[in-house]
Amino acid sequence: MKKSLEEKIFKRFSSLFLNGKDIEPKTPHICLSLDVGNGWYRLIWEMCEKVEKELNREGNAKLKEKFFFSQIKEKFGALRSYFNCGNKIIFDITLEAEKNSSKICEYCGEKGTSQKIGGWIKTLCKNCRKEKEKKQERRLDEYVKEYKGKSRGVATESSEGNKDNSINKNM
Ligand SMILES: [Zn+2]
Repeated sequence: MKKSLEEKIFKRFSSLFLNGKDIEPKTPHICLSLDVGNGWYRLIWEMCEKVEKELNREGNAKLKEKFFFSQIKEKFGALRSYFNCGNKIIFDITLEAEKNSSKICEYCGEKGTSQKIGGWIKTLCKNCRKEKEKKQERRLDEYVKEYKGKSRGVATESSEGNKDNSINKNM
């Protein structure tokens, strides 16, 4: 996520994040960045609002003291949130956000679907998918051009490689 959006979340929900605070060196993993696309900004914002509300509920003062997000990232096209010292309600809030993330384009925030692109699972809308595919094609073109340039005159290498493979198979 771009820094300006990230900062807004960190600033508004500073009690849910430990970055920029005085902490003990032995504190485990701390969430220093939101490793997702800009399209999930609102989703994360709303999730933080709900978590904050739960922590402010009567009887949760101790929990509030200890709670912090340790990681927020994208995995298999969904929003994954990890935290320190939560409860069942907070767990459910993060799970709900994870479920909803598979219907929101990670790049632009429009309606999206979870789909496979070049070996990766991503939740994107049609437009962002097209853009991503174009970028991938461009990158592939560049790679092929570069590779062709480098591989001139080294054709013997591949036949030796094949020999090695056959030996490995026999073993
Ligand atoms: Zn999109």
